[in-house]
Amino acid sequence: SAPVLELVDLERHFAGSGGTVRAADGVTLTVGRGEVVGLVGESGSGKSTVGRCAVRLDDPTGGTVRINGTDVTTMSRRALRPLRKDFHLVFQDPSSSLDPRMTVGQIIAEPLKLHGIAKGEAARARVAELLDQVGLRPEHADRHPHELSGGQRQRISIARALSVEPELLIADEPTSALDVSVQASVLNLLADLQRDRGFGCLFITHDLAAVEYLADRIAVMYLGQIVEQAPTRELFADPKHPYTQALLSAAPVPDPTTQRSRERIVLSGELPSPLAPPAGCRFHTRCPLAVDRCRTEVPALRTLEGGREVSCHLVAEDGTAPDAAEPPAA
Ligand code: SF4
Ligand code: MG
Repeated sequence: SAPVLELVDLERHFAGSGGTVRAADGVTLTVGRGEVVGLVGESGSGKSTVGRCAVRLDDPTGGTVRINGTDVTTMSRRALRPLRKDFHLVFQDPSSSLDPRMTVGQIIAEPLKLHGIAKGEAARARVAELLDQVGLRPEHADRHPHELSGGQRQRISIARALSVEPELLIADEPTSALDVSVQASVLNLLADLQRDRGFGCLFITHDLAAVEYLADRIAVMYLGQIVEQAPTRELFADPKHPYTQALLSAAPVPDPTTQRSRERIVLSGELPSPLAPPAGCRFHTRCPLAVDRCRTEVPALRTLEGGREVSCHLVAEDGTAPDAAEPPAA
């Protein structure tokens, strides 16, 4: 059967002050049934744009978005409505997505009513069940979002998203607005629910420890493009793209034996503006390994043996990759 989410050459360009912002620039990504795919990269890399385009909160300006095999790229909002129960987005900051005038019970029950799944007593019973599943009590149904903690609010937006049993959940930095002390419990909740229900998940984050814990596969974004994609374990054990190597070198190492290079790679310079991405390899202005060719020639995203993908001129056909922690002496 078709994957729950397929992005093919997804592009979102929009007019910003000073020119065209290339927020997403040719992103091809698949989330299989029951699969958790992590989308990582620093802020400004276009991760959120990809998530928002995938659920049509933002409109793509090119490429294709398919949900369960249905092309939704240019589907009207009205035509999209009945499909909305198949996919949900959980935001970074739940306070912006929970209506402050509604009770928690109403917030969770709303999608059930919208999609004609349950109303009245049946909806109330379902709300109680969902509250229990996200670790809250039945009496929370009568509260308003502002009476609850950030962690509780995020549990409510998860309950709301899961109320209609979606096949795809897109979680955009679901814990980064929360206190560090409650982040782990919300991540554990997501992991438990995903395992029990088997929904596909696009997990967008800059938290590498979280993505290592949750994701089956990881795609790394830089300036609107995917530069590397691999199963989680392989990516952490053997990052091939110099940017991935730099990202991972800055992450805490849960198991030192799994990390090939633990030497910290400090990138020079800022993330360039998506208004004017550098020519050639977009990473060349910061890459410790850049050679002449990188300034002019765009590296293709190549599929290596075993299905990993990487876009770097210096990665050999057999997957041999240089170590950005040890650049050759100039
Ligand atoms: Fe670095 Fe060149 Fe590879 Fe780009 S193509 S990541 S600049 S070595
Ligand atoms: Mg973001």
